[in-house]
Amino acid sequence: MTNNFETEIACSFCGRSQSLVERLIEGPGVYICNDCVNIAVSILEADETKAQNKKTKSSIDIDNLPTPKEIFSHLGEYVIGQDLAKRALSVAVYNHYKRILAKENNLSKDDTELNKANVLIIGNTGTGKTYLAQTLARIMKVPFAIVDATTLTQAGYVGEDVENILVRLVQNSDGDIQKASKGIIYIDEIDKISRKGDNPSITRDVSGEGVQQSLLKIIEGTVANIPTKNMAGGRKHPGQETTQIDTKDILFIVGGAFDGLKDILKTRDRSAKIGFGAKINRGFESEYNIYQDVRPEDLQKFGLIPELIGRLPVITSVDDLDEKTMLRILLDPKNSLVKQFKKLFILDDVKLKFEKEALRVIVQKAFSFKTGARGLRSILEKTLEPIMFEIPSRDDISQVIVTKKAAEGLEDPKIIIKEQIVKNNRRVRVA
Ligand code: ADP
Repeated sequence: MTNNFETEIACSFCGRSQSLVERLIEGPGVYICNDCVNIAVSILEADETKAQNKKTKSSIDIDNLPTPKEIFSHLGEYVIGQDLAKRALSVAVYNHYKRILAKENNLSKDDTELNKANVLIIGNTGTGKTYLAQTLARIMKVPFAIVDATTLTQAGYVGEDVENILVRLVQNSDGDIQKASKGIIYIDEIDKISRKGDNPSITRDVSGEGVQQSLLKIIEGTVANIPTKNMAGGRKHPGQETTQIDTKDILFIVGGAFDGLKDILKTRDRSAKIGFGAKINRGFESEYNIYQDVRPEDLQKFGLIPELIGRLPVITSVDDLDEKTMLRILLDPKNSLVKQFKKLFILDDVKLKFEKEALRVIVQKAFSFKTGARGLRSILEKTLEPIMFEIPSRDDISQVIVTKKAAEGLEDPKIIIKEQIVKNNRRVRVA
C-alpha cells in the first residue's frame, strides 16, 4: 500500500509540498520551488551590488583635483557674473573633495577630523543658483540631483520623502551607490520651509520646522536606507529590499530667494552703532551686496532652525541680473541659448541669425517677467516656433533671420530661400 506522506515530494528549502507551490525543480536528491529560486536570485543580486559598490572608487583623482581657481574659471565658461558665489563654491567644492580624497588615500597625518562644509546660496529666482550647482557637478564629474524643498512639506511622511532625495541621486548615478555617495545635491527653495511666525513675509502654514529637522541628519551625514528596486521615488513598504547610503560625503548646496531677509538685515543694521550699515546709509545699497553680511542669527530670525544653519557654514549670494548680463547669458556661455538654437537649425541645414535689436527686445521681455534668465528660453521658443514648424518639411530654406518685429511678436522670423541667394549672387556677379 502506498502512503501519501511518502509520495508527495516537497521543496528541500521551504518544506512546502508540490501541491502548494507553482513549480518544483528537481536536483540529485533535492527539490527547490519557484519561490525559493526567486529568493535565492535576489540574495545573489544584492551581493553583486554590494561587491560592485565596494569596487568603485572615487571618480575624482587626488592628483587631478582642480584647484579653486581652475574650478572658478571653468564655472565662468557657463555661468555669467555671480563671481562672489563662484568663488565661494570653488573653494567649498575643492575643500570638500580634498577632504574625501585625503581620507580615501590615508593622507591625514593626525586624527583631526575635517568636517563637511555645505553651502547656502541666497538670491532671487532665475539668477543661476541651480545652474551653478549643476555646473559644479559636471566639472567634478560627480552625480547631481535637484530637489525642491517645498515638495517635502506636502507629503505627510516627511522622513521617507527626505530619503527620496537620495533615491534621485542614486538614479542619476545609474544605481552606483558609491558614486552617489560623493555626489552633489541641490535643494531649492529652502527659504520656503522656514519656521512659521519668525518671518513676516511667510504667511503659508507649512510644516517647515519638521522638514528642517528631517533634513538635518541627511545634510550632516547619516546612513540612510533606500529601496534597491523601484528607485522611482515611490514610498518604502515593509518587506521591500533596501540598500544603505552614507550621506557624509555628499555635498549639499541649498538655495532660496529669502524674501524679507533684506528687511531683517536692515533692521539689525539700524540698531547697530557701527558696521556695514554705514555703507548703506551713505547710499551704496544698490551696488552693495547686502547678503555678504548675512549672519546665522539673521537666518534664524528668518525662520531657519539653528541646527540647520549650523550645517550650512558657507553662505554666499547671487545678484539680480541686469539687462546687460542677460544679453551676455543669451550669447556668451559655452552652451548659450543662441548657440543652442543655431545648432538646432544647422542640423536642418539652415543658418539662424538674430538682428541686434531683436536680441535686445528678447532680453527686455525676459527682464519684465522678473524671473531672471528663466524667461529667455520660452521667449526664444515662442519666437522661433512658427519657423521650427515649417523648416523640417522644406528644403529650400537657407537662412532664418529673427528681426526686431519678430522678437516683438509682430511678424514671423524672416525666411531666406536658397534660390534667392543664388539669384542675388548672380545679380552681384553681373553687376
Ligand atoms: P535659480 O537661481 O532659480 O536656481 P537657475 O539656475 O535655475 O535659477 O536659472 C535658470 C536658467 O537660467 C539656467 O538654467 C541658465 O540657463 C540660466 N541662467 C541663470 N543665471 C545664469 C547665469 N548667471 N549665467 C548663465 N546662465 C544663467
